[in-house]
Amino acid sequence: MIYDVIIIGAGPAGLTAGIYAKRACLNAIVFRDKYAVSSQICNTYEVCNYPGFNNISGQELYDNIEKHAKEVGVEIVGDRVIEITDINLDVKKIKTKEKVYETKSIILATGASPKKGGFDREDDFVGNGVSYCATCDGAFFKDKEVAVIGGGDVAVEDAIYLSRIAKKVYLLVRKDFLRATKILQNEVKNKDNVEIIYNTVVKSAIGDKKLESILYKHKDDIILSELTVDGVFVGIGINPNTELLKDKVEMSNSYIVADETGKTTVAGIFAIGDIRKKQLRQVITATADGANVITSVQKYLLEKYK
Ligand code: NDP
Repeated sequence: MIYDVIIIGAGPAGLTAGIYAKRACLNAIVFRDKYAVSSQICNTYEVCNYPGFNNISGQELYDNIEKHAKEVGVEIVGDRVIEITDINLDVKKIKTKEKVYETKSIILATGASPKKGGFDREDDFVGNGVSYCATCDGAFFKDKEVAVIGGGDVAVEDAIYLSRIAKKVYLLVRKDFLRATKILQNEVKNKDNVEIIYNTVVKSAIGDKKLESILYKHKDDIILSELTVDGVFVGIGINPNTELLKDKVEMSNSYIVADETGKTTVAGIFAIGDIRKKQLRQVITATADGANVITSVQKYLLEKYK
């Protein structure tokens, strides 16, 4: 069978594209990775800026979107895509571990993954004190002392979330200001058990089997300072998951060059959500991309096969 469109990725962008594809009566499937969490949104404690859902947990919002997709009959396949080939041909191929699928068009919606902190011995303590997800691992640090690295929305949200669980939270920011939304900044600054330390870069993790402390460098100091913490949460941004199209479509800093139509530099290949070059990466812009791209796919198919 040759599909009209195959959507790779089952986050808010991919599932919205699936819903719109179904409404457009396209013959479509959505791939999700069988073993990984489907979306960054599942690791977000609270979403306060998705219209219609003031204060909903990221997981609940995701579950709602997934339920909606399943209710309208979107077919979601749990199989990891390992390669895309024949992208310049009319019939493109998608290889998974188990089989090869043929399709007239492809939408990549593979999202992004957290960046690593880049300090010494970081990898030694992943799962034993170093974490990239406060909502997943925060509960392990009840009444303990933890550090959060970063100054954007993710780090500040993590610090707020952890302040409800941990005894003390240090927010380590490399510049002398926070980059997060003003409302989050105000909230974190009002937390009694959160201490913000500006102008600092974490250099190393220390411990035997478990993390015991971190070494950081303050801009004005010559020597490193040590902070005794049980956990460190890294929230310093994201890397787009664009490997499947590496060297196949135009990219800029690993983000796929595509405007709000989702069109990449290759006809019939579309990119939506956090993987494309855009101003604002949030759930609302991801779902908007998912809606928009199906119009582009329909136009592409109509022109090609009229
Ligand atoms: P951002 O890119 O917004 O912020 C990254 C932060 O980490 C910056 O403060 C940056 O510092 C700092 N940083 C980067 N590299 C390092 C490093 N090596 N060492 C120390 N600090 C570093 O990323 P986020 O992960 O916070 O957010 C990702 C996206 O998700 C954003 O678009 C955000 O708006 C969105 N988001 C939205 C939410 C919402 O709407 N509720 C919730 C969570 C995320 P510097 O300022 O010096 O560059």
